[in-house]
Amino acid sequence: MTTTTQVLELKMLINGEWRLSSNPDTNKVINPANGELIAIAPRATIEETKEAIKAAKETFESGVWSKLSAQERADYLLKIADKIDEKHDELVELEVKDNGKIKAEADIDISDAASCFRYYAGLIRTPDGQTYHVADPMQAMVVREPVGVTGLIVPWNFPFLMSVWKFAPALAAGNTIVYKPAEVTPITATKLVEIIEEVGVPKGVVNLVLGKGSVIGEVIAASHDVDMVSFTGSTEVGRSIMRNAAGNLKKISLELGGKSPNIIFADADFEAAVDHALLGIFYGSGQVCSAGSRIIVEESIYNQFVKEFVRRAKNIKVGPGLEEGSEMGAIVSEAQLNTILEYIEIGKKEGATLACGGNRLTENGLDKGFFVEPTVFIDVSSEMRIVKEEIFGPVAVIQKFKDEEEAIKLANDTIYGLAGGVFTSDGAKALRVIKQVRAGITWINAYGPTYNEAPWHGYKQSGIGSSLGTFGLDEFQEVKQININLAVGPTGWFSDNGK
Ligand code: NDP
Repeated sequence: MTTTTQVLELKMLINGEWRLSSNPDTNKVINPANGELIAIAPRATIEETKEAIKAAKETFESGVWSKLSAQERADYLLKIADKIDEKHDELVELEVKDNGKIKAEADIDISDAASCFRYYAGLIRTPDGQTYHVADPMQAMVVREPVGVTGLIVPWNFPFLMSVWKFAPALAAGNTIVYKPAEVTPITATKLVEIIEEVGVPKGVVNLVLGKGSVIGEVIAASHDVDMVSFTGSTEVGRSIMRNAAGNLKKISLELGGKSPNIIFADADFEAAVDHALLGIFYGSGQVCSAGSRIIVEESIYNQFVKEFVRRAKNIKVGPGLEEGSEMGAIVSEAQLNTILEYIEIGKKEGATLACGGNRLTENGLDKGFFVEPTVFIDVSSEMRIVKEEIFGPVAVIQKFKDEEEAIKLANDTIYGLAGGVFTSDGAKALRVIKQVRAGITWINAYGPTYNEAPWHGYKQSGIGSSLGTFGLDEFQEVKQININLAVGPTGWFSDNGK
């Protein structure tokens, strides 16, 4: 294989020092669109991870970050946002090469990341806390304080943006950070830390460790010197984080998987419903936690919907993210590709009908990368694994319902509760139905857009806590009540006989 790509040599940042690991084992990072080696990353040892935690702890206690005024921290966040904008094109290109997504998606991610830093720079300067009228001559009030050392563990589907959803509120609140990106996508993670260093955030505030989640992620989750872990990823690893966090009862914020319903009523704007449903499942090649992977369609339009959805799915242009005209990019890794292909086989064996797709794409030079056709299953039942389990790929199942009650029942027939959508032209029905969908991120007559201002929150096994909005900042803060005596003098509670 001839390669023209420059191979990046990534380093970790521990207590202000960029360094490699003493571990000779390294992680070879490849471009999922063409199989080229694009970076070599160190794999931190347990000791090095502990050093990073120690640096974050000492830096937190030193107050160089936690004791800055909100205005000073906000100024840093604004500088980070400006730098992200300045490096926008470079970051987009790296994100596409690392993750496999199309350029248009990476464009949104990087712009949104800058906007997220600006949002929290503003939010941290708005009024907070509370005061209370209490029974005694006492002024009671609440102030907010940082949690301390935060462990940020991030997945590969939105490597830069998911990191920023955690970094912006964590830094705004005055915490220090130990950051572990996913092994398959460490490149823009490293760039984010470089940017933070470039704008002058004091050393030790942000520490980057690279390596396997099952080794160094475990150390972060279990450490008694880490006060909080904010994790996005699979429900299974979420459970492991929770178990590990029990040791020192650290705070946890978990953003996990989903198998989200998208309900289409017969009275919906048909063209809009088909179009949004396509976006709901095939954006990001379906590797999106909130993907609308279960499309639930009213019986009377079911056949018409399937026909049009399949026609449109077949027309999606799958290709390398940097290639002009690509509408759906690569799958992030060979392992994830195999998982998706296995699920497609399971679906066939379970008796579902494959309405379109189902294959790895290898024509037109795609054979070196990891590409899957947009895939649609019909004739499915609730017990099938392809209906119950998160596939995390471009695979939709289309279910059928008779009436509103059955639509809601099917929608909620899942262990997850991350997202959901409803399409109808009846306003009252739309609100009535969406309020009964047990999920935290919902849409009416749309599927997918998300905003820095609003909380990203999972019900049931989709998570604990929230990202984004004021709720996202709350996660990274403790609340402290302060009671100020307005009539200072002895309480007279215990007798004093003068002896
Ligand atoms: P994981 O949950 O395994 O990985 C997410 C992050 O957690 C990575 O940084 C990973 O490290 C780290 N990690 C892994 N094991 C541990 C551990 N024991 N303790 C602490 N951290 C750990 O997701 P995968 O990448 O394996 O993907 C598997 C499935 O998870 C997907 O198919 C999808 O269903 C779901 N998923 C959901 C996401 C979401 O946004 N909700 C995002 C990504 C995946 P590393 O991988 O580098 O070793």
